Amino acid sequence: MSSYTLPDLPYDHGALEPAISGSIIELHHGKHHNAYVTGANTVLEQIAEARDAGSYGSIVGLEKTLAFHLSGHALHSIYWTNLSPDGGDRPDGALGDAIDRNFGGFDQFKAHLTAATNTVQGSGWGALSYDSLGDRLVVEQIQDHQANHSPSTTPLLVFDIWEHAFYLQYRNVKADYVDALWTIVNWANVAERYAAASS
Ligand code: FE
Repeated sequence: MSSYTLPDLPYDHGALEPAISGSIIELHHGKHHNAYVTGANTVLEQIAEARDAGSYGSIVGLEKTLAFHLSGHALHSIYWTNLSPDGGDRPDGALGDAIDRNFGGFDQFKAHLTAATNTVQGSGWGALSYDSLGDRLVVEQIQDHQANHSPSTTPLLVFDIWEHAFYLQYRNVKADYVDALWTIVNWANVAERYAAASS
């Protein structure tokens, strides 16, 4: 029985052009994200089989694989809704106030998240997250999908910096891709996620 399904995109493949090409979005959603959905379902079945058999010889690898695929599914599901052809500019309201309070201003926050995203070693993500322990916003630099972030945080805005997210269009110039991402951020979505996480 499948537990996870690939969510539909909230826009057409080409809707984010010129920031992100339609061919990247089509591959990224239909192939890469879908592979994480399939992977999460498959490893859950394997874990259930191990549990039924009382055979836990492979449990370390299975739990790592679950974390990888489930985190990949979660992050991509957020990433699609974080972006919009009508996005860009900067947030106001409670989210804008929290950014000012926790980072000293939007420009400082933008520079921080940009640097954290651009300097990921290997594959990963830059993220603006809400930390429930400190009731504050933090920037996190996520390795792969599942490492280098705290269980106390909820990602609000995530920038995918895996090569599959930009290489067909930007080749090795990842900084230009990250600059383009800022022009399509759906701040209304990020603000909704902040309100839900902090309530
Ligand atoms: Fe990705």
